[in-house]
Amino acid sequence: MKDDGQEDRGPSAVREPAVIVRGVTKAYGDIQALAGIDIDIEPATVFALLGPNGAGKTTLVRILTTLIDMDDGEARVAGHDVRREGTRLRGAVGLAGQSAAVDPVLTGRENLELVARLYHMPGSKAWDRARDLLSQFDLVESADRQVRTYSGGMRRRLDVAASLVAEPEVLFLDEPSAGLDPRGRLDLWQVIRELVRGGTTVLLTTQYMEEADQLADRIAVIDRGRLIAEGTPAELKSRSGGEVLTVRAADDACLPEVQRVLGAHGDDTPVVDSEHGRVSVRVSDGAGLLAGVVRALDDAGVALSEIGLRQPTLDEVFLALTGRRAEDGAESNDDGAKSAPAAVNRPGGP
Ligand code: ATP
Repeated sequence: MKDDGQEDRGPSAVREPAVIVRGVTKAYGDIQALAGIDIDIEPATVFALLGPNGAGKTTLVRILTTLIDMDDGEARVAGHDVRREGTRLRGAVGLAGQSAAVDPVLTGRENLELVARLYHMPGSKAWDRARDLLSQFDLVESADRQVRTYSGGMRRRLDVAASLVAEPEVLFLDEPSAGLDPRGRLDLWQVIRELVRGGTTVLLTTQYMEEADQLADRIAVIDRGRLIAEGTPAELKSRSGGEVLTVRAADDACLPEVQRVLGAHGDDTPVVDSEHGRVSVRVSDGAGLLAGVVRALDDAGVALSEIGLRQPTLDEVFLALTGRRAEDGAESNDDGAKSAPAAVNRPGGP
């Protein structure tokens, strides 16, 4: 991590976390969007805020980027107090929000150059920075087309690129993969990993366990304005029952037999999805069990059409942590852009 911008620090000072949140609350009328949040994010790590619609994720991102004020509490980002050092803080952070903030009438290149000029970069430096980002985000071929001709995924990539123009120390990504196809999502994850290797700290919000699992060093699960769990992806998954083993038999008549075998190997009662001919069960050591399950099914004369391990979904994590489904009590938001990225690493996904 870069040390410039960290004022008032002696050479021997211990560097503080990149993001510190203490007791932050925010209400909108009767709605308690945040009910006292505490977070520490170490520099050059990815921290995922995982939660359903309306959990309070965007509200926290807005507070930490000074777009809205908190009611109570304290927060520091990149060494700057959110309330008292807003100007310095804004110079040290980048934000890509849920709706692309790029100008559809300008070209991709013009958008990036405009942002660079807003940061007072001289013309040649702005041009260089735009060129580098267009290349990094695979937008070179469409660089000189108006953004209104871009696909949703291209706009989102441009939007993230724009948030990086000033090389922020801390990058906030609010639902970065909303609206991206599986390929676009993987590309974006790769960019995020590279940024973090280069020293950037990333706070991202997501509704997808898998995205958090792929990217985050630590995950905080947020529900109705409260953090209900925090830990590494492995810790959270084990708290919510590890992975899910799913089997589909070549012949649906074998479902009871599959159910029996999985019942003997899994951690709880197998769930039968007769519509798709699948049986699933939670397992704590999926990789270790796999060979034994295949053998047991073979011994039982079951021909397999599919077997696989997948991460628990947000809904399954939620159920384990709260005893209720993530969808219950969450706001509905059926804009289609937030459908789960089921196809990635998920057996039987569409
Ligand atoms: P999403 O994924 O849908 O964006 P989220 O976890 O980011 O969800 P927030 O947008 O932070 O959730 O919203 C938290 C709560 O605060 C919700 O109940 C929401 O309706 C409410 N809320 C957010 N912004 C406002 C506002 N400007 N006025 C009134 N209520 C608001």
